[in-house]
Formats: sequence, structure tokens, C-alpha cells
Amino acid sequence: LNYRRASYLKSSPGLMHCPDDSGAEVAFAGRSNAGKSSAINRLTENKKLAKTSKTPGRTQLLNFFVLDDTGRQRLVDLPGYGFAKVPLAVKNEWQRNLEAYLQKRESLRGMVLMMDIRHPLTDFDQQMVSWATKSAMPLHILLTKSDKLKRGPASATLLSVRKNLADYGDLISVQLFSAQNGDGLQALRSKLDQWLDV
Ligand code: GDP
Repeated sequence: LNYRRASYLKSSPGLMHCPDDSGAEVAFAGRSNAGKSSAINRLTENKKLAKTSKTPGRTQLLNFFVLDDTGRQRLVDLPGYGFAKVPLAVKNEWQRNLEAYLQKRESLRGMVLMMDIRHPLTDFDQQMVSWATKSAMPLHILLTKSDKLKRGPASATLLSVRKNLADYGDLISVQLFSAQNGDGLQALRSKLDQWLDV
């Protein structure tokens, strides 16, 4: 698949206003600052795309990007997760919408979850893992900013995160990723190609 062809389609606060639930899509999630925008930029070689999701008014739950003219293959950016300052009522609403999306969206093939390699598996990450796996949604975890660690400690973190999530078996895969030097880009593309195969 040519990820450079990704273009913005629409934003939606919940399931109601999503594009047609046909074809295949992959969602991207991560605490703010985990490196999600940089990863999407690197993948699509388009600096404007993920920024689109940070545009005021588009910080809704789901931001859809299409990879082909027919819109049957999509990337979905889930912004604004992990903001501590958000009122509880908004958080609860966000959670309900996200759970509904994970449970009911037929075309959703998997979720890419970004975690900063220097502090993986935060409470928030654990929460996402638990929501996703409860819906039997496959997860692909990127340990981002891998360039921040030397090779030894990076591999050690990779092994320890894998071990921590071993109970989920094939439902969860984990890899290193760096938007800065391209580490893991090919592995990410292979995973997405596999998920978006329609
Ligand atoms: P987001 O909030 O999850 O979208 O995170 P951003 O993509 O905006 O990145 C947050 C910060 O981490 C920025 O200062 C980025 O420059 C930095 N960053 C993101 N990816 C990498 C990476 O692969 N390597 C390094 N060294 N820094 C990164």
C-alpha cells in the first residue's frame, strides 16, 4: 500500500458520523506526546496529516484518512487521549464512544498503540490494552523514540514489554519505532499492509 497517498476525509465525535463501515481501517492511539503525530508523519511522508488532527475543532474522537480513491482503506487517528485536565464527564463520554467504536466497528482491523520507549505501559496504556483486548481487537504496539536509547536497553525494554503482555498471545505484537531515524518503519508498513488487505 502507498501510505503517501493518505488524505484527510473527515472527523467524527463517535460512531454516528463515521464513513461507511465497509472496507478496512486501522486506528492509531497513544498518550499525548507519545510520538503519534511523528509516527503518522513518517509513515505517510506528509507533515500536514497528523497536524490536521490537532487542529482545533478536529480534536474529536475519530479523524479519518483515506489511502485510496474509493475510501475502502483508511487510517483513523484518535487524538487527545491522556489529557489529565479533561473533566471527568468528558473522559467518561470519550471512553463510552471509544468502547462503542472498538466493539461495533466492523471494518476496524486493529489498533496501533504508541508508547514512549522510556516509559511504556502507563496506566493509560494499560487501560487501552484492556479495552482493546476485551473487544478482541488486535493491537500493534510501537515503542516510539527508540533512538533515545542505546541498542541494548532498547532491546531489553522490547523484551520486557512483550513478556508483560505475553498472556494476550497473538492478539498483541510489539516493535521498536523511531520517527527520527526510520527504525521499524518497514515492520510497521508490513503490519498495516496485512491488516488493510481487502
Ligand atoms: P503526539 O502528541 O503523540 O502526537 O507526539 P508528537 O509526535 O508531537 O511528539 C512529541 C515529541 O516527541 C516531539 O517533541 C517530537 O519531536 C518528539 N519525538 C517524536 N518522535 C520521536 C522520535 O522518533 N525520536 C525522537 N528523538 N523524538 C521524537
